[in-house]
Amino acid sequence: MTDLRLGAGILAGRLSAALIRALGAGGATTMPGRVARAVAPDLLARLGRRLMRGSVLITGTNGKTTTARLLTGILGRAGWRSIHNRAGANLPAGIAAALLAHSALDGQVRGDVGVFEVDEAALPLVVESLRPRVLVLGNLFRDQLDRYGEIDLVADRWRDALRRLEADALVIYNADDPLVADVARDFPAARTFGIADSSVRRGEALEHAADGRYCYRCGVPYRYEAVFLGHLGAYRCDSCGTARPLLTVAADNVRLRGITGSVFTLTTPVGRADVTTTLPGLYNVYNIVAAATAALTLGTTLGLVRTVVRDFIPAFGRGEQITIEGHTVYMLLAKNPAGFNEVLRTVLSGARPVVAVIAINDLTADGRDVSWLWDVDFEMLREHCRAAVVTGIRAHDMAVRLKYAGLPEEAITLEPDEERAIHCGIDLLALGEPLYVLPTYTAMLRIRDLLARRGYVRAFWED
Ligand SMILES: [Zn+2]
Repeated sequence: MTDLRLGAGILAGRLSAALIRALGAGGATTMPGRVARAVAPDLLARLGRRLMRGSVLITGTNGKTTTARLLTGILGRAGWRSIHNRAGANLPAGIAAALLAHSALDGQVRGDVGVFEVDEAALPLVVESLRPRVLVLGNLFRDQLDRYGEIDLVADRWRDALRRLEADALVIYNADDPLVADVARDFPAARTFGIADSSVRRGEALEHAADGRYCYRCGVPYRYEAVFLGHLGAYRCDSCGTARPLLTVAADNVRLRGITGSVFTLTTPVGRADVTTTLPGLYNVYNIVAAATAALTLGTTLGLVRTVVRDFIPAFGRGEQITIEGHTVYMLLAKNPAGFNEVLRTVLSGARPVVAVIAINDLTADGRDVSWLWDVDFEMLREHCRAAVVTGIRAHDMAVRLKYAGLPEEAITLEPDEERAIHCGIDLLALGEPLYVLPTYTAMLRIRDLLARRGYVRAFWED
């Protein structure tokens, strides 16, 4: 392909981005990439090659956005200019759009490194195009049922992606996830991360929503010394001896402080550091350890990691704190059973009983089939939720689910309109009580949009 064609692709993409913005049609996070790739199909590969320090790809069911943002923050503090598909546009077109936004028409890219979150299923294609320097594999949870069907299918795609990596590429993976470990453990250049502190374990048995209970080598159930989150933990197969790999970087001495964050010790090959974060929940400890492992691999210092983690502000919907009419509102995205259970645990670890708005949509990005709600342990709300306002397209299904979870009928308010639901939640608050808003993905975007119009939050593409 000629450079002329690359230039035309960049121009077409940039024009469409300008047009989308001029029309006020949104954040232009994907469409410019689609347009540009229609003109110059190998645009992703060619622009990616111009990044002096290469690309880092981050994938996994839960935590991609926060991990990528943390890494971008750390690298930025180290003086690297990152290009990042920030708004969660994590298919090839979204990554192309992010690169386009920082490219000149002659194909020069204004950035040192690409930090791209990648949809789990799109990984082989993106690896093939971008030839990343580092690949971060987070976790594999069963997502909404109709999206990929089987997490084993996604694992096979990841195996395929690993085969396509360049010889000098490095894989960083979550050793606490047996399926992810099975995908990556034989890769020659691999580093691992996980949780070393068994005091934060949930127990030694997997919960109902857990995936990946059986040894991928021989089919025997794993024996867990500690279950941290879903099927993540310290595990061993007594039949074939397969066990959690040794941790390169680990979180130790973990102290969870509910919705306000946590403190822990980061144990790394270059030393230990006490880390404080306002990101809530154990799932964010994983995200921080993942980002730290990648940042240290790329040559940043532990001190820098610690500073950026301390100052980090959550991404939209990931524990973000908003003030509405003097009340504190926390937005916690919950998009699959394992993720939802963690969010509920985090919310319930603070003052109880709680007031929550639960917003459930069933658009493509949420999963069209809401039967996954039955895999979430809403039963834990039974004694501890004073009022639940259910909203979104599938508000009715959610109300039924809460009723079966044992919440008294008078504690459940059905309000399909999201804006009225938020106000209804606020009206139910006692002085000083926070409101927890727990939306699925598109419900979160809708609520963000509503709040942005009222001036409570910035439009997410301005983040
Ligand atoms: Zn085994």
